[in-house]
Amino acid sequence: MYRKIFIDKYLKNGFSFDEAKVEVDFALEVLFNYTYKDFMLGKSIEKWQLAKLEKVLNERISTHRPIQQIIGQAFFYGRKFFVDENTLIPRPETELLVQETLKLATKFEKPKILDIGTGTGCIPITLVVENKNIFAESVDISFETIETAKKNVLLHNVFEKVRLYQSDLFENVDGTYNIIVSNPPYIPIKDKETLQVEVRDYDPASALYTSDEYGVEFYIKIIEQAKKYLLPDGYLLFELGINQHIIVEKCLKDNGFSDINVVQDYNSIERIIIAKA
Ligand code: GLN
Repeated sequence: MYRKIFIDKYLKNGFSFDEAKVEVDFALEVLFNYTYKDFMLGKSIEKWQLAKLEKVLNERISTHRPIQQIIGQAFFYGRKFFVDENTLIPRPETELLVQETLKLATKFEKPKILDIGTGTGCIPITLVVENKNIFAESVDISFETIETAKKNVLLHNVFEKVRLYQSDLFENVDGTYNIIVSNPPYIPIKDKETLQVEVRDYDPASALYTSDEYGVEFYIKIIEQAKKYLLPDGYLLFELGINQHIIVEKCLKDNGFSDINVVQDYNSIERIIIAKA
């Protein structure tokens, strides 16, 4: 069957079986709404669909461009989002950041949330879809990124609940919020050559790198200003890179934050840090 031919093609080119299976099924579902269940039921694929799939997978295999960027869509929290060369492809770890933010949001009647560095807009859009009481504001340093995030706001029909605008961190922000959340760049630029080609050559550089040695530049910049923008009893949440929780926790304490909580991801990596203003 064709599914196997495509998977074999991945394997021959040095990809793992898991990667191959996930990506072939992803392409079939996003491009043609053809699910694994359809495959099990023996539903066939049309000739033109095979040709399209072949073209997409050939590009993926020969260039290592991420499949989500080739197709222009990714899944986050079970929903589709447009992605392009100006937006970080949403990662499963970030779903944990959204989950923790949703838990905290229940403490407020009408939670007002600021998301810094929005990319596709996956965080604010998921928050307002999951909890109808939330209003989210979202900023990104890049105008192009904001344009793509706006397409996702329209796709999910939440333009009354999410406000998007360009801002370098807090530069153009003038409100106050119950919660500030961010998944900022956290890879030290010196580690660039150690990254997978998929990330290094295709995710936008402004979404990935910091200029400091430990990848904590943006956490520190946000923490130092966050209190001005947080309402009483407000919270600050970050997604973290590996081993960054120690430095970030110290910085939070030094800036008067309390009730600090670190949450591990499914690989037992300290991934999310939460602090109270
Ligand atoms: N907030 C977006 C995400 O988590 C983008 C993050 C970024 O560009 N660093 O996917």
